[in-house]
Amino acid sequence: MSKSERLVYIEVLVMDGGNERNGVARHRAEVARLRMRAEEWRQSIPFGAGRGGTDDVALAVLPANERTTAQLPSGRRSSFVRHLSQLVDEIEQEDGERRRPDRRKRARAGTEDENAMLGRACATCRGQCCLSGGEHAYLDSPDLRRFWSTRPSATGASIADAYLEALPGRSYSGSCVFHGISGCALPREMRAEICNAFLCDGAQGLRTEIQAGRTGGGFLVAAAGGELLRAVVVDAGGASRRLRKR
Ligand code: SF4
Ligand code: SF4
Repeated sequence: MSKSERLVYIEVLVMDGGNERNGVARHRAEVARLRMRAEEWRQSIPFGAGRGGTDDVALAVLPANERTTAQLPSGRRSSFVRHLSQLVDEIEQEDGERRRPDRRKRARAGTEDENAMLGRACATCRGQCCLSGGEHAYLDSPDLRRFWSTRPSATGASIADAYLEALPGRSYSGSCVFHGISGCALPREMRAEICNAFLCDGAQGLRTEIQAGRTGGGFLVAAAGGELLRAVVVDAGGASRRLRKR
């Protein structure tokens, strides 16, 4: 744990002591505690001879999806079909508008290496932020319009079919209908803008570390219930290995 991280930890404990009901402060203290344990774990792992040794390795403490997968219940599929049909109808009624490009931010900015490490982080977490995708997958009409604009000759029915064909056979129980065992089953160009842009605090912290120069690999830890559940070690060349629960 670096000096600045230790200071944050102490500061948070002091803040929380002054207000026992301060949930935000408690959360920050918990994150700092997990990070301290993850840091100890990282220090115990040989990362090889990088520029700065272990200190050159980016550390991330991420959420952990602990659900299991199951076949998508027909009721949930029907709800998604209804949502999709509404979006298609909405766009068809705006005929002439549908090829107008969506100007919202679509993707995470960043280098290829940075995005590759973020992708590994999300794979380590297994998509905790997708749990609230439910039967809408965050898709709205501008998202659909953007995808549609890449296929100008497509009909509403064929656009809807493209989404339905992408539904995975099995998905995480109660999560987004597209949340399969290998991650999101939708190609990026079909995902909602928020799905392409969102980073949780842990992933955002990882990006900050990489941008600050920790480019000698990554130590990605998924935690839930106050415990470090699993970790992935990524070496400077991009090779990775999983570690057991600590
Ligand atoms: S952004 Fe965060 S919560 Fe979402 S999948 Fe990635 S690591 Fe998990
Ligand atoms: S569409 Fe994909 S990225 Fe978006 S919430 Fe669903 S599974 Fe997650």
